[in-house]
Amino acid sequence: MNMIFKRKLLIPKEVKEMYPISPEGALAKRGNDARIQAVFTGESDKLLLVIGPCSADREDAVIEYVSRLRGLQERVADKIVIVPRIYTNKPRTTGAGYKGMLHQPNPQEHSDMLRGLISIRKLHMLAINESGFSCADEMLYPEHHRFLDDLLSYVAVGARSVEDQQHRMTASGLDVPVGMKNPTGGNLSVMMNAIRAAQAGHTFIYRNWEVESKGNPLTHAILRGYIDSHGITHPNYHYEDLAHLYELYAQSGLVNPSVLVDTNHCNSGKRYDEQVRIAKEVLHSTRHSTEIHALVKGLMIESYLEDGCQKPGEGVYGKSITDPCLGWEKTERLVLDLADLWV
Ligand code: PEP
Ligand code: MN
Repeated sequence: MNMIFKRKLLIPKEVKEMYPISPEGALAKRGNDARIQAVFTGESDKLLLVIGPCSADREDAVIEYVSRLRGLQERVADKIVIVPRIYTNKPRTTGAGYKGMLHQPNPQEHSDMLRGLISIRKLHMLAINESGFSCADEMLYPEHHRFLDDLLSYVAVGARSVEDQQHRMTASGLDVPVGMKNPTGGNLSVMMNAIRAAQAGHTFIYRNWEVESKGNPLTHAILRGYIDSHGITHPNYHYEDLAHLYELYAQSGLVNPSVLVDTNHCNSGKRYDEQVRIAKEVLHSTRHSTEIHALVKGLMIESYLEDGCQKPGEGVYGKSITDPCLGWEKTERLVLDLADLWV
């Protein structure tokens, strides 16, 4: 093997003992979990918004952002359930670039995986303590999920991971909703197979244990657009795409048929301000078909304090260092508009 084993890290139990969730935090998560799960089972007809920066690059700006979301959540509580995105580990298309707070607790400094593990747990804990939100993160590394499992209310499996068996089996053992993104190439059968795999139980190896999962009935689809073999991006949020997904679900026998539409990534072509139009178009589509209305549970939106993105070295507070995001003022306006439009 051509790698150096530098140091042994803490296991999840040890990090959790160092930074335990408070009783108030655990109570808040139970309430959030129930509200979010009710959206996927259809008991609640509220619109779910998984919303926040592409990457959680610094604690202060992320906590300010989620605190602002708390105020906004109170204003739209009759229509909308908000789950902040606090994405602490980032998949990279070519492997190059910022891999998230897990790798680099300070984006200007070298990787430090021990500090990273502690920083991501502290950030998710601080979010619950300061805002009452238990948040969403991407499960990029299934083996690491247990550092955060008592803090998260929503998990996404990314476009680059959705065909991977370990991700699917781990998702089948989680007790919160897991969104399976369509893969970057757009093949919807890969996404539907991921949902099927995760809704079933499995026996497998997890963290050196033989484990048995029960299957996760809250596993569902996320449409994020795709890139074709010529490198051209294509959206998949239009009415016809949603109708097609409805048909795939109808043939599948899967439970809790649900989709979130990711308004950025290949759906916007990373033209972040198009997210406003895309979000409204999706809600418009739901008004034309009771089937599509029942299928669409919500949206995933990339939003932060400032519009757009910057290079990591630039140091602008609250501006994304990965994908471009919708800034706060436009986000607030959009969420208020969505609350008016969602019927
Ligand atoms: C993201 O949500 O920021 C992301 C990396 O998404 P995807 O897996 O769809 O590229
Ligand atoms: Mn992104």
